[in-house]
Amino acid sequence: MKKYKAIFFDWDGTAVLSRKAPVDDIIGPMKALLGEGVKLAVISGTTMENIGGGKLYTYFTPEERRNLFFGLGRGAFNYGFDESGEAYTFGEKLPDREMLVQIHDVCYAIHKYLLNEHGLNTDIVFSRPNYCKIDLMVENNRGEALFLQEGEKERLLETLSAHGFVGGLKGLVELAENIGREMGIPVLATTDAKYLEVGISSKSDNVNTILGFMEENHGIIAGECSFWGDEYIGFGEGIFGSDSFMITDKTRAGDFFDVSETPGERPKEVEQLGGGVKRFEEFLISQKRCG
Ligand SMILES: [Mg+2]
Repeated sequence: MKKYKAIFFDWDGTAVLSRKAPVDDIIGPMKALLGEGVKLAVISGTTMENIGGGKLYTYFTPEERRNLFFGLGRGAFNYGFDESGEAYTFGEKLPDREMLVQIHDVCYAIHKYLLNEHGLNTDIVFSRPNYCKIDLMVENNRGEALFLQEGEKERLLETLSAHGFVGGLKGLVELAENIGREMGIPVLATTDAKYLEVGISSKSDNVNTILGFMEENHGIIAGECSFWGDEYIGFGEGIFGSDSFMITDKTRAGDFFDVSETPGERPKEVEQLGGGVKRFEEFLISQKRCG
């Protein structure tokens, strides 16, 4: 495989099996590449606290950290590190409190619609700084594994049709965006089958901002980057998973790889490699320039 100047990757399910899983296996390969000047960007929907207990960067020296980036919170936060190894943020896309409350209103309206019209109950996680997670399968607990589980999409589609909701996942995304439009709040909705996530930004904002930074400061272009995830998979009708939001007009010339084994439709830019976190770890090791 070609050697990339920058590697963007999802965290849960791609770099580690789950949030509670030890980070030991991935640190070594990351450290080797950062030391050689390869840029690594963790692109995750979560916040820093959920990535290696918020301590991931402490495994790396200040020099290594200069090549490390985090694009977190579904487009809300981007982090780089200065000469002394201190984190700084750039290109934030965080709603103010008023906008956040409006996002909450939209999510509650979605919940009410599904309950009123379809007798379908949901739970809403309100505590994220910039979006809500609507749990569409309240009976189905993922435990510590936060990524798409085998058969989840099928179970959700069965649940939806049992409640008389037609249109499947695309219908849900459209419902969310339509309710937002009606309320005058232009929300973006994404889904990984268990959760419908509703906010004003996405992983697209993270990769665009971080690649823009790399372009400006290091002359790196999209064709020199690869993008790794475990949730590119399609849900049919042009609805793809959260990692597919890393494919943008700005990044499209890059290479996109999926480590998920799950069969299904993916965006045409994506090559399915399978192999899970092990495959991604092997890739990082193989990217080492010398020794
Ligand atoms: Mg993932």
